[in-house]
Amino acid sequence: MEWDLSVLYASMDDPMIQEDLEALKEKVGEWNALIDVICQDDQEAPRKLEEALKLESETLLLAQKLGGYVSLVSSADTQNEKAVKYEDLIDQILNDSVESSTRFENWLSHLPDLDRVINNTPYLSEHAFVLKEMQMQEKYRLSSREEALVASMRQTGSSAFARLKDQIIGNMKVDLELNGKAEKLPLTMVLNLAYDPDPVTRKKAYEAEIAAYQDTEDGLAACLNAIKGEVLTVSKWRGYESVLDETLLDSRMDRETLETMLEAIRESLPHFRAYMKAKAEALGHTNGLPFYDLYAPVTQTTERYTYQEAGQLIVEQFAGFDQEMADMAQRAIDEHWIDVYPRAGKVGGAFCANLPSVKQSRVLMNFGASFDSIVTMAHELGHAFHNLCSQNESILNLNSPMPLAETASTFNETLVKKAALASMSDEEALAVLEAEVSGCNQVIVDIYSRFLFEDAFFKERANGPLSAKEICHLMEEAQIESYGDGLDPHYRHPYMWTWKPHYYYATANYYNFPYAFGQLFAKGLYAMYVKEGPAFVSKYKQLLASTGKMSVYDVAKSIGINIHDIDFWRSSLKMIEEDIDTLIEKLSHR
Ligand SMILES: [Zn+2]
Repeated sequence: MEWDLSVLYASMDDPMIQEDLEALKEKVGEWNALIDVICQDDQEAPRKLEEALKLESETLLLAQKLGGYVSLVSSADTQNEKAVKYEDLIDQILNDSVESSTRFENWLSHLPDLDRVINNTPYLSEHAFVLKEMQMQEKYRLSSREEALVASMRQTGSSAFARLKDQIIGNMKVDLELNGKAEKLPLTMVLNLAYDPDPVTRKKAYEAEIAAYQDTEDGLAACLNAIKGEVLTVSKWRGYESVLDETLLDSRMDRETLETMLEAIRESLPHFRAYMKAKAEALGHTNGLPFYDLYAPVTQTTERYTYQEAGQLIVEQFAGFDQEMADMAQRAIDEHWIDVYPRAGKVGGAFCANLPSVKQSRVLMNFGASFDSIVTMAHELGHAFHNLCSQNESILNLNSPMPLAETASTFNETLVKKAALASMSDEEALAVLEAEVSGCNQVIVDIYSRFLFEDAFFKERANGPLSAKEICHLMEEAQIESYGDGLDPHYRHPYMWTWKPHYYYATANYYNFPYAFGQLFAKGLYAMYVKEGPAFVSKYKQLLASTGKMSVYDVAKSIGINIHDIDFWRSSLKMIEEDIDTLIEKLSHR
């Protein structure tokens, strides 16, 4: 069950690939020449701006066709050397346009009356948001020489340290004794044991993991200090008040939204703690939940689903919501948009890729026959539906900020879970409900602890590097504030900063609150759907079409949601709290 990519190219040896690479080079050359002319003066600004945007769109479309194809091939076959080579080549070609692009952005930002220029033609008006955003970012842009310097210094700075972190984590061996056999296991394998049905295995894996950091913590701390130190330096040079301000601006989200959401989260923490304590009791603990049992299964599930059954269930549930979404899912299955099963050389996990050049999507997953796989499939098809809803938008209007990128996918998860729960056996329903609450616990409580940690780390790092012990201390403080007495104080996880990749992305800081936003925003939309029924659907589709061309606040407002109003966040959290209450009730009767 491999996906069909022939709508892009017949194979890696398709001569069209060479032709398109040549065409892409030509476009980049055209772009550089055009920018030379454009930047000479402000004359005929609307005509020149429109010409530039159209050329940029064509270039992007072609680059995404080529880049999309080779990255899909390489994710389904990581050993494919040709794909790796082409990926590199495409990057090189596009890099030649970076300097011109900075000059173009600079020219645009200094146009005397940008509003009047934008209102000059419908095509420019269509791109008003991204154009104004480019102008607004100008005050944080360094000179083109400095920008080039920062970019090249990153290669030996944050990027190099991120690679080193990957190497340390990838090479880490954990000493673990299971069933009387002593083994040295890779860290990733040991982390997976958190889901093991055997409680002794989970505890041993956790203790072995913590012990293993003795040898690696100093190297990992050096990586984190270097990356976050660079982030602080560059952010300051750009003139941002704080890294959080910079991140919010990049996320098209205002501080009031963040603070309102966090306030509502703090209010609901006691509910999550009650869930953790109830789960602890169900697993035989008396002092709160040990960190190693956060993901522990509370019941054994036996139900298995084939891919065909999963597809049928999803199409049926989607049809209850919207026929267009159901038809798209059916088409994705029939026309092989999905690479279904795990196989050697294929990447793990799941993702959905938008292919705007052909107005289609492709989904990669590793179908595993559990209900979880169905939820993943619904999630990825949610992304595909998001792409479908925005397929008539300009390619320049397709960049959704992080907080909105998971709206449709999370919405679909809720849709399928709610429907499936109604028709399941008690044991299976309990497992699904527990997995749902445990997932929300991660996205709300753990994400809140990550936010607190990262915020505290940036504050301390501004005064110099921290030792591994000091970093661990900050992490424990954050967990105490977030998890409270939900966690057993003897078994928190001071090393959660080591392998979570998000802390090591120099260009995506605070990569935590967008998850909470996405989850709660999608829940709020679902609650709206429950209340309004079919009338909700067309508004929702319009919202999905607009996520790349408005601020987060305006996208929410377009459907009648005020994200500055704490009651909106409270009502989303209430849906989770109700699930928690049901779960606690069920767990106490076992
Ligand atoms: Zn997703």
